[in-house]
Amino acid sequence: MRKENTAGTIDRADIVIVGNGIAGLTAAVEARRFEPEKRIVIMTSQSHPTINTPALKQFAIGKITREQLLAYPPGTERLQRIHVVNTLVEEIHAQEGYIRLAGGQGFGYQKLLLATGSHPLGLPPDLPGQDFDGVLTLHRLHDYLDLRRRLNEVEEAVVIGGGSHAIETVMGLLYWGIRVHWLIRSETFLPRMLDRYASALVLEGARRAGAKVYTKTEVVGIVGRVGVVAGVVTTDQRMLPCQLVLVCTGTSPVATLARHCDIPMKHEKGILVDDHLRTSVRNIYAAGDVAALRDPLTGTYAPRAQWYAAVQQGRVAAAVMTGGADPERFGVSWHATRLGDLSMLTVGSPLASSDEVTPLVDRRRGSYRRLSLIDDRLVGYLSLGPASPDGLAIKRIIDEGLSVREITRDLLRGEFDARKYFSSKRSYAVQRMVTTGQMPTPLPPVPGIVAGERVAAPRVSARAQSLPPAPLQRTTEALPPQPSPEPPVRPLHAGSRSSASQQQSFPETDSLRKQLGAQPTLVGAEQNAAPAAGGTQEEEVELVVRVPERQFIAPPIKPREVKTDALPNPHPSRSLWHYTSKQPAVKGKGNVQK
Ligand SMILES: Cc1cc2nc3c(=O)[nH]c(=O)nc-3n(C[C@H](O)[C@H](O)[C@H](O)COP(=O)(O)OP(=O)(O)OC[C@H]3O[C@@H](n4cnc5c(N)ncnc54)[C@H](O)[C@@H]3O)c2cc1C
Repeated sequence: MRKENTAGTIDRADIVIVGNGIAGLTAAVEARRFEPEKRIVIMTSQSHPTINTPALKQFAIGKITREQLLAYPPGTERLQRIHVVNTLVEEIHAQEGYIRLAGGQGFGYQKLLLATGSHPLGLPPDLPGQDFDGVLTLHRLHDYLDLRRRLNEVEEAVVIGGGSHAIETVMGLLYWGIRVHWLIRSETFLPRMLDRYASALVLEGARRAGAKVYTKTEVVGIVGRVGVVAGVVTTDQRMLPCQLVLVCTGTSPVATLARHCDIPMKHEKGILVDDHLRTSVRNIYAAGDVAALRDPLTGTYAPRAQWYAAVQQGRVAAAVMTGGADPERFGVSWHATRLGDLSMLTVGSPLASSDEVTPLVDRRRGSYRRLSLIDDRLVGYLSLGPASPDGLAIKRIIDEGLSVREITRDLLRGEFDARKYFSSKRSYAVQRMVTTGQMPTPLPPVPGIVAGERVAAPRVSARAQSLPPAPLQRTTEALPPQPSPEPPVRPLHAGSRSSASQQQSFPETDSLRKQLGAQPTLVGAEQNAAPAAGGTQEEEVELVVRVPERQFIAPPIKPREVKTDALPNPHPSRSLWHYTSKQPAVKGKGNVQK
């Protein structure tokens, strides 16, 4: 890193934000709310205003226009006096409190927020043929602009990737009447979020919609004709003819600036931050896809690369940087999205696997739910079906470590009424706080839960389960049974550990939680909690997931005719910069002395 005495020669601002994705702009807008007079500057390498990236998929298939992609109304930055500078930030000089921009200019900060997002993983760099025209990695606006221009010429396409981005791309192509080959490297879809049954349900939906799905299949090379893609060769020696290859293989945080900082900044998978989004370097914060937050259940750090998480973190970063408010804790991660015809919700660790964890599942035609419980506390929830339950309410139940004894059945069947539950909890908690003077206790981390990992363990009969009192219907078999390597099922209240032993694994730094954890729990104090019931209910719930091996055979949706004039975009703006170009420019050298 270049060293140079810059004092007295560079501009500066009170709050400098790197990146104008949704985390960066949300932080800037919120910071302005708290601090009407401070100087707020966004430095970004992105040459267009902040867009709603999840909506790019609707844009690709012509359901919305380019203008409708804008995340904030045009002119927001100017109105809020947020200066936007289109540049690449290359280095952080934390000791002297400035960043170095491309071209060598320095820019001082009092507080610095890194909101540099993520970049796509793409294809392996040595994969033959990836340079052919028609091989696109879908991530940014220009990738989708490129895709839209090509759709009319495509009859057959290959989509590569095993996540939600991939399935939405598949569905978008099918909507356009394009024949789709979908290649998934793993045996199942979204293996770190979904179990085998849930994966089978999603893949079945994609097949029914007309996609050809190839699991455990990778690309070994791309074939071209005179510079243009003509097909894909797979690991099982198949040649799939196509005019388009779309790569949706996941993302990785852009943590370059953590490496280019003169004070070591902790980063692994993303830049490590605490619950106030502080990095390990003073006055530097991180938010959005680049920030790795601690999972309170597993203790591991990982980015939460989702839209809602980036918005929430932008807000929290603004509050912390301006001293505006005490932000609430992030708690466990949650994710809600559409997977083809199904709504998916995951909260916490639905695939958590350890001796203490009891998985319960409920499946009925076209929908599926899975609960992971430790004693009477929920540690993970998964729902797939035509509609999603209230994800934020379920997240709150996990974050606060509330008992689900009385609502297990409702959660399992997707009939959970959050309003009713929380109003009864609130009256109980208030009454208890008045009589004991103690706060409700959050859930401590659970040793042995490893995020997204499953351990092979002997299966226990479903009859060994004891379940909450309300009768549960045996679920309808939507798919034929097949043995599956699911975690063992255990009695709901067996294997319970004392809260003291759970406290031991608390990190030393988390003193507030330690204090709270030392108090008796709200759950433990419940007087009316129903005892676990055995007997008749044991047989009435599917506790072991069974997954079909055979492929679902259903008539594909008749491909639609592709119309060249179908994309609505009657009045395209002359420039994507049409409003930010009018931003007051940040002056050059000598404007504000460092
Ligand atoms: C196609 C697509 C579909 C998605 N669909 C969904 C969905 O359905 N649901 C959901 O929850 N999430 C979805 N996501 C994820 C979600 O959009 C992201 O989690 C969120 O937008 C991340 O915002 P961010 O501000 O952290 O980062 P980004 O939007 O990546 O912004 C980062 C910014 O930093 C800039 N930058 C990086 N490095 C530098 C540097 N050194 N100097 C200057 N500028 C720099 C970049 O130019 C960019 O402007 C999707 C993402 C994509 C790409």
